[in-house]
Amino acid sequence: MRQQFLFSPTLRDVPQGADIASHQLMLRAGLIRQSAAGVYSYLPLGHKVLRKIESIVREEMDAASGQEVLLPAMQPAEVWQASGRYDNYGPALMRFKDRHQRDFVLGPTHEENIAALVKDEMNTYKRMPAILYQIQTKYRDEARPRFGVLRAREFIMKDAYSFDTSYEAQNESYWAMYRAYERIFTRLGLNYRAVQADAGAMGGQGETHEFTVLSDVGEDTIVYSDESDFAANIEIAAIPDTVSKPEPVAEEMTMVDTPKERTIEEVAAKLGIRHEQCLKTVAFDADGRLVAVLMRGDHDVNEVKVANALGAEVLEPASAGQIEEAFGAEPGFIGPAGLSGDVEVLADYAVRGMAGAVCGANENGRHYQNAVPEKDFPVGEYADLRFIQEGEPSPDGRGTVRFAKGIEVGHVFKLGTKYSEALGATFLDENGKARPIIMGSYGVGVSRTIAAVIEQNHDESGICWPKAAAPFDLHLLVINPKQEDQQQLGEELYDSLQKSGWSVLLDDRRERPGVKFKDADLYGLPVRIASGKKAGEQIVEVKARTAEENVEVAVSDLPQY
Ligand code: ATP
Ligand code: MG
Ligand code: MG
Ligand code: MG
Repeated sequence: MRQQFLFSPTLRDVPQGADIASHQLMLRAGLIRQSAAGVYSYLPLGHKVLRKIESIVREEMDAASGQEVLLPAMQPAEVWQASGRYDNYGPALMRFKDRHQRDFVLGPTHEENIAALVKDEMNTYKRMPAILYQIQTKYRDEARPRFGVLRAREFIMKDAYSFDTSYEAQNESYWAMYRAYERIFTRLGLNYRAVQADAGAMGGQGETHEFTVLSDVGEDTIVYSDESDFAANIEIAAIPDTVSKPEPVAEEMTMVDTPKERTIEEVAAKLGIRHEQCLKTVAFDADGRLVAVLMRGDHDVNEVKVANALGAEVLEPASAGQIEEAFGAEPGFIGPAGLSGDVEVLADYAVRGMAGAVCGANENGRHYQNAVPEKDFPVGEYADLRFIQEGEPSPDGRGTVRFAKGIEVGHVFKLGTKYSEALGATFLDENGKARPIIMGSYGVGVSRTIAAVIEQNHDESGICWPKAAAPFDLHLLVINPKQEDQQQLGEELYDSLQKSGWSVLLDDRRERPGVKFKDADLYGLPVRIASGKKAGEQIVEVKARTAEENVEVAVSDLPQY
C-alpha cells in the first residue's frame, strides 16, 4: 500500500473526550472514527487490524472443529420472549417494530436465535457434538458507552455455541473452547488471565471463565495468585459461600433532606468492602441499614449477592420502569443497577416511596449523593461478610492473592439446557427418548480486543503493534523522494519485500522527514525501514518499533536481518 493513497488520517492532538490511550491512539492513528456514541466506522488501517484478529479467531475456531455460520442480527422478539430475556435483559436490548408492528430486536448475543435454529435440525444424537460460530456485529444499548471500541453499542463479537448430548461431552466442548481462547490471546501476545466468573448473568448454573487482559483501564477486578492456578473475577472471589443474613430491616423509615456527599470509596470503606463491590443505587432506612437495591439489566450479579447477603430487597427492572414513569423520565433513564442520569430522580422516589435513600454510582471519581440519615452505617451489621484481601493466602493454599484490573476480552459458559428447553430444542437419544440439547456459549470481543492490544502495546509516540495484529508488517520510508537514489531504492525494496511475503506500507509522500517519522511512530508498524542518505551505498536504516536505536543494514543483508 502506498501511504499517499491511504485513507487513515492522523491527528496530532489528543481528541476531546478520549480518556484512555487506546481510544486516543485509535483516533489519532486513523483506525476509527466515531459516528454516534459507542458507534464507530473502521477506516482502512483499523479494518485491517480487525480482519487480522478475526482470522486468528477463525483459525482457532476451525482448528477446534467449529463451523462458521452467519445468523441474522435482526431477530424476532418471540425467541427472546420464549427465554424470558425479552423482559429481563433490560434496556441494553435494542428493540424495534417492523412496518407490520411486529416486535424485533437487534441481537446483543445469539443463544435464543441459535437454539431456535437447531431445533428440529439437530434432532438426533448422531448430529452431535457440534460447535457453530459466527463473527458478527452485536448491538447493546450500553448505559454508558465509553473508551471507544472498548465499550461500544455496536461491536464485533465472535460467538460460538456448542451442542452436546451429555454433560461429559459438554465438558469436552467447553475445555476445547477454553484452550482455543488460550491460543488466540497467546498468539496476540496479550498478558491475560483466565479467571473463574459468575454464571448468574447468563442464567446458567454451570462453569464459566472470563479471559481478562491485565490493564489499569479495565473495568473488571481479578484476584489471582502466580503461585497457584487460582484466578477469579472479584465478583466470585469476594463473597464466601456461607454468609449469615441479618434479620429483616425495620419498616419505619424517615427522610432527612440535607443532602450530603460521600465518595464511593468512603461508602465502600463503611461497608468494609472494595469500591468495585459497592452497591450502586440503594436505599437505607433511618438507622442506616440497607433496605433495597435497585436493579436494571442482568449484569450486576455481585450487587444481588451483596443485597441478598444483607437481607435487602432487590427491586426488579420493573421498579426502575415505574420510577421512570412516575417522574416522566425516558425509559432506560435508570441504567443497569443504577442511574444513568440524575440522582435526584431516585432521591425523590425514595422520599415518596421508600423514605431514606442513598443514590450513587459505582465508579471512581463519581459521588454518592445521599439524602440519608446523618448516622453512620452500622458496620457491625456487615461483619459476617468477608471479602478476600490482597496478600491473603489463596483459597487453594498455594501462594498469596494479588488484585489486578483487567479488560474482559472473552467469556466461556456452560449453559446447560436453559435455552434448549425454552426454545424446544430436543434430540432423540440412543434409546429414542427426547431430551433437551446441552449447550455452551463462547464469546470473544473481537473489536474490544483491538483496544486491549493497544493498551498493552503503546508508548508516548504511538501504537507498538505486535506482528500478529499489525495492519502491515513493515513501514518503508523514503526520506527524501526528490533524491533519485532514495526513491529508486524505496521502489525496489517495496517490490522485493512484498514478493518475499511481507506486507509493506510505503511512505514516499512529499513530506518532511519529521512528519514521516511521527506518523510512522503513531501507526506503530513492527519494523521501520528507511531509504535515506546512504541509499546510494545500498544501505538502509532499520528500526524495530520498540527498539531504541536505528541499525544500518546493507540491502543485501536485509532479508536475513
Ligand atoms: P462486560 O462485562 O464488559 O459488559 P459482558 O460480560 O456483558 O461484557 P459477554 O456477554 O460475556 O459480555 O460478551 C462476550 C464478549 O463480548 C465480552 O467478553 C467482551 O469481550 C465483548 N463485549 C461485551 N460487551 C461489549 C461492548 N459493549 N463493547 C465491546 N465489546 C463487548
Ligand atoms: Mg455487559
Ligand atoms: Mg462481564
Ligand atoms: Mg461476559
